[in-house]
Parts: sequence; C-alpha cells; structure tokens
Amino acid sequence: MKVYQTSRHLSAYISKLKKEGKTIGFVPTMGALHQGHISLVEAAKKECDVVVCSIFVNPTQFNNTEDLAKYPRTTEYDKAMLKIAYCDILYLPSVKDIYPETTENHRVPPVGNILNVLEGVHRPGHFEGMMQVVEILLRKVAPHKLYMGLKDYQQYMIVCNMVDVLKLPVVVIGQPTIREKDGLAMSSRNVRLTKLGRKNATAIYKAMNFVKENLKKSPLTELEKQGATLIEKATNGKIEYFSIVNKFSLEPDTDLKNLIVLTAVWVDGVRLIDNLELS
Ligand code: AMP
Repeated sequence: MKVYQTSRHLSAYISKLKKEGKTIGFVPTMGALHQGHISLVEAAKKECDVVVCSIFVNPTQFNNTEDLAKYPRTTEYDKAMLKIAYCDILYLPSVKDIYPETTENHRVPPVGNILNVLEGVHRPGHFEGMMQVVEILLRKVAPHKLYMGLKDYQQYMIVCNMVDVLKLPVVVIGQPTIREKDGLAMSSRNVRLTKLGRKNATAIYKAMNFVKENLKKSPLTELEKQGATLIEKATNGKIEYFSIVNKFSLEPDTDLKNLIVLTAVWVDGVRLIDNLELS
C-alpha cells in the first residue's frame, strides 16, 4: 500500500494510473477504522482497479470542539487494517494540505432542503464542513467511483446532490450499514461507550425494527413516539430525533412506500446515529 501525505504526489500518481486506463475507487474516512469502513474498501476493490482510502479528521465538520478533541485516532492500526483489505493507496493529509490558506469562505453547493433537516438542525455547520472536505478530496483524488456508507444516510444523500449540482465526474455508491451481532451499527464512536451504555445502545436497532414491523398498524407520529420511548427507557439517553420520513426528501410523508426512520441519540455522552429503510 502506498501512503501519501501530500496531494501533489498523490494526484500525480493517480493521473499516471488513469492514463494507463485504471479505474479508481475512493473511500473517504476519518479513521478509527472498523468493518463498516472496510466493507467500503472491499466493495471498491471488487469494482475498481485501484482503491484509494483517505483518513482525515476534518475540523470544519465538527460543531463541537470536545467531539473533535475526543475523536479516536488510531493511524497505525488503520494502516494495518487497510493493508489486510488490499487497499492500494492511503491518503493521510495534514490540515495544511487540505486547507493551505484558510478553512473559511467555502461556498455551500445548493443541495436543497435535505441540508436543513434532521442532522442539519442538530449539528449546524456539520454538512457544510463535510461538503467542503468531500469536494476538496474529490478534486484531488479524481476517482471514477466514490463509496459511502448508508449508515450516514443524510450525508450520502447530500453528497449525491452535491455531485449532481457541481457536475463532478464521479459515481456515488451507497453501501449497506455493517452492524455488530446484536444490531448496533458499527461506528468509530462506539469505543467511547461504557460497557452498560454499549449494551443498552442495542435498543436503537430494536426500536427501528419495531417501527418497521408495526408500520401498517399505527399512525406514523405514534410510531415515532413509541420508538423514541423504547430507546429512552433502555438507554436513559437523550433522543435528538427519531423521525420517519420520505427517503428521498427526508421530509414527513403519509405514503408508506418510500419511508426511512432516522435517529440520533446521546448515550453515555456519545452521539450515535442510525437509520433503517422501512419500505
Ligand atoms: P467516517 O469515518 O465515520 O467519516 O465514515 C467514513 C465512511 O464510512 C462514511 O461513508 C460512512 O458512512 C461509512 N461508515 C461508517 N460506519 C459504517 C457502517 N457501520 N457501515 C457501513 N459504512 C459505514
């Protein structure tokens, strides 16, 4: 696996590979890798000649300085995981390489109202920072395919829209959420849970499945309340949202055809998000 810390050398090498006719798959991450990230590398490996993974804890997408400071950093372990998954190139930039002058003054692509709901309400500025770094990374790596997890469903939708409106020449591919055996979605933040919090957090997946199983039995607003209560009781946590919405607009819908439930919950001071398609 080749490791690059500056985009100048990375971009030159990727250009050379593309001239040789190689297809490039790209997996951007913030590190602290787990099987969820590796599943993206594996998917890219199947469909592309060369897989590039980036690890960059992007400061502009953290709206909470404590969250940024506490974000797990496990670079040596990550490198070992990527080698085992036969990742070809790791891009490990510094903040200066991504933002040579300033992190400010970045345009916000007009991706529509999906920017302003759910995570958009609870983490102001988060998606703006995420789009900023994904656009910069896409311009540096210039991949044919971009692999993203549906675990961060709203992020995936926003990136699809951004690629569309900016006419970036890349195909965005959403990959299913990888879960622990007990249903908890894998996340770099899970390591910060206490043993009890970790056990109780399984209520998130159970509550989403409860909604799925009872979709036709109760009004959606009632199901939202019941699902939120199930999580609240089990985790003693604070629910930011537990919302059943249309999976394209991320807005409330009465049609049961295209629904998804999305939730954000604080357990043990750790913010967990998850979602499940209902239809
Ligand atoms: P992150 O390092 O958290 O920014 O995530 C990097 C990429 O991995 C994003 O596209 C995430 O959606 C994806 N990802 C994170 N957790 C999972 C998971 N449990 N299953 C599938 N993809 C995931």
